[in-house]
Amino acid sequence: MKSFVYNALPSRVVFGVGSLDHLEREIDLLGAKRALVLSGPRQHRQVELIASRLGVRCVGVFDRALMHVPIETAQEARALARAANADCAIAIGGGSTIGLAKAIALELSALSILAIPTTYAGSEMTPIYGLTEAGLKKTGRAARVLPKTVIYDPLLTVGLPVAISVTSAINAIAHAAEGLYAEDANPVMSLFAEEGIRASARALPRIVAEPTDLNARTDCFYGAWLCGAVLGSVGMALHHKLCHTLGGSFNLPHAETHTVVLPHALAYNRDAAPQAMARIAAALCAQNAAQGVYDLARSLGAPTSLAAIGMPEAGLERAVELACTHTYFNPRPVERGAIRRLLQDAWEGRRPA
Ligand code: NAD
Repeated sequence: MKSFVYNALPSRVVFGVGSLDHLEREIDLLGAKRALVLSGPRQHRQVELIASRLGVRCVGVFDRALMHVPIETAQEARALARAANADCAIAIGGGSTIGLAKAIALELSALSILAIPTTYAGSEMTPIYGLTEAGLKKTGRAARVLPKTVIYDPLLTVGLPVAISVTSAINAIAHAAEGLYAEDANPVMSLFAEEGIRASARALPRIVAEPTDLNARTDCFYGAWLCGAVLGSVGMALHHKLCHTLGGSFNLPHAETHTVVLPHALAYNRDAAPQAMARIAAALCAQNAAQGVYDLARSLGAPTSLAAIGMPEAGLERAVELACTHTYFNPRPVERGAIRRLLQDAWEGRRPA
């Protein structure tokens, strides 16, 4: 076994059907008294329920979280948190809402985050934040933005539309897949990664067949937790870089972009990370990691081409340019010509060879 460093991240996870019932207890354990409740525009009903449950402990509601955290939204929410003297942000929603809570905590360092995820994106398990200013998304890491408590209640995911469920869970699988060949991979996170892929991939066909199947929703959330923990703990590589570039510069939808690109990024890295590929394939019950992800996405009706999610073919050259601009770790060196072919394959939606 290779030497490694393992950094355990300090967060408390409360998992299971009905775990939202423990919300008040969890706020008490944080020592918080004044909660600001956050959500996106489509989840105001869940927020109203939480706000009315908390009564006077809810000192404000902000239900306009947006994808990629525009700086204007962050500033508005920060001002509200300051004016209300909030000591805790309760973020109920997907990566966009949890991202907004992180943007607030970045400036108001005394504010704790209690995250209640409702998608499989995994942001709740990471100290990574993102902010978009003048069309440019910048990301960073800061210990204080890591949610202190995460409540995973599968009941909250039953209404997540099937199409979003599928791409969101494949987004989670992407964190785990790249975690297996990360520069700072370690055996603990690799266990999380393999189990996270397995749980997500086995749950997805059951969710597509029956979106209200609570056992399937529970298994998928368990997988999402594990995959999110991998993203929070070890570094990512080519796949995340490509998705960040495509999402940021061509305004492509986040989870769908991950779903389309992942098989091609894995095919690119196949020979440089054979052990990781074998573990991914085993978790997917497939012969080959890249084809396994592609076949999974296709069988679940998810998009498989960049063309289908709005990427202009004329933009591929620019995407190559951006992907090759900065150096970053990847098991196989980032070669311009090969990246161009990868993106063409992804644009056309070819099954990896
Ligand atoms: P999202 O938060 O934008 O949610 C997608 C859509 O689903 C929204 O319209 C939302 O209202 C809706 N929705 C969410 N939960 C629902 C539910 N249970 N029922 C019905 N509708 C529901 O999407 P996402 O994929 O969760 O997050 C994407 C964002 O998160 C991106 O900005 C991405 O960069 C960021 N992200 C950050 C990290 C990190 O570690 N910092 C990790 C993953 C994703």
